[in-house]
Amino acid sequence: MSTSGLELSTLGHRIRHHRTAKGFTLDELGALVGIAGSQLSLIENGKREPKLSLLQAIAEACSTNVADLISGEPPNRRAALEIELDRAQASPVFRQLGIAPVRVSKGMNDETIEAVLGLHRELHRRESEAIATPEEARRANTEMRLTMRARANYLPEIEVLAEKHLKAAGHVSGALTHRTVSLMADKLGFELIYADDLPHSTRSITDLENGRIYLPPASIPGGHGLRSMALQAMAHRILGHTPPTDYANFLQQRLEINYFAACCLIPETAGVAFLQQAKKDRNLAVEDFRDAFGVTHEAAGMRMTNLMTHHLDMRLHFLRVDEKGAITRVYENDDLPLPMDVTGAVEGQPACRKFSARAAFEQRNRTTEHYQYTDTPSGTFWCATQTGSAHDSGFSITVGVPFDDARWWRGRETSHRAQSNCPDEACCRRASATISQRWEGRAWPSARVHTHMFSPLPRGAFPGVDDSEVYSFLDRHAGE
Ligand SMILES: [Zn+2]
Repeated sequence: MSTSGLELSTLGHRIRHHRTAKGFTLDELGALVGIAGSQLSLIENGKREPKLSLLQAIAEACSTNVADLISGEPPNRRAALEIELDRAQASPVFRQLGIAPVRVSKGMNDETIEAVLGLHRELHRRESEAIATPEEARRANTEMRLTMRARANYLPEIEVLAEKHLKAAGHVSGALTHRTVSLMADKLGFELIYADDLPHSTRSITDLENGRIYLPPASIPGGHGLRSMALQAMAHRILGHTPPTDYANFLQQRLEINYFAACCLIPETAGVAFLQQAKKDRNLAVEDFRDAFGVTHEAAGMRMTNLMTHHLDMRLHFLRVDEKGAITRVYENDDLPLPMDVTGAVEGQPACRKFSARAAFEQRNRTTEHYQYTDTPSGTFWCATQTGSAHDSGFSITVGVPFDDARWWRGRETSHRAQSNCPDEACCRRASATISQRWEGRAWPSARVHTHMFSPLPRGAFPGVDDSEVYSFLDRHAGE
């Protein structure tokens, strides 16, 4: 017999149940089956595994059978409570607390055990809540990024579907109008309605019963975000989505509706024709692609990643980086070295300070794209970065390619050049030896509390504070 400790505990409880029902003491039953009472006690406490022959003897003495003894059911409520307590006290969550386990005695009443169990259940609930949500989110996100990388970020079925719906609504070429989007909704039996009281946790709500899609009112008249949001709401319907079963499924649906909206705003046929011409002219530029289709810089950059590997045989990367340097959206299939946490997540990680994505924030004239060649341990990359701001904070959008493909892009003649050795921390994440020596032990920063789920705490002498930033700050101001 190979039984786990928990099964042994149930077995022990069942033996004790039958023994006491027969009115035997440990020694009395022990004598009947030929073992010492102390040995039987160990078995009843789940500390020792009985041989089959002994089980048969016990079953016989107690007027039952072996099948009954080894049934996995707790014999009664009290035993069920004790078994659950054994299990809870054996769990790593409890054991890591270093608290001595409660030893159940005969005199301890059920209510006491129930109260202890209640605490264990709550401990478990809190622990899984704290761990599962961000963990699960990161892993699911990483898995999806890798799947999309393997598919060159290209989903042909959705491309075809989008062109079909655009055609049915009469769209011919150029930027997709709000009017056409309304017609598309109409064909699906939906009316677009702008409501200013949408719940904060939603982007849109679809009333399936009455055929309405509620969207937030346009903050900027003619703003492009609304087309995208309306298209995404319709996409759930067109793609036959059902309520998501788990977080990974939720992410998958989000990706698909985003993809569908992107296909409508820049249809494959027209988009590829545009990019092929620009490549032929050696004049590829995100900003031209953006302006031709009336979309945001971010949408145009991301759309390039969908179409260019499959249709133009070009590998590339996309980065959205916030002003603090954290990567908030990412795609690459050109082997650009990216920072990763232990789960493989890139989002929330700091981009190398030498990258164009961060160097662009330092440029005085930020009206046009910043171009830069960056040498990395994986080769040289050429990147084009556009900065912008939203909700009072800055961000940058970067599209880049390996050195050999720079020749197709506008900005290839740039003289900006940088050397990145990340993930080696000496590249940009550690202060130089001189500056560290100068300030070590002479700085006392007070950390700001991080609230963003993806923000990893920078390492250093002070938790939550980036030493090198503090030191350079002091260095800059000390001389004033
Ligand atoms: Zn670096």
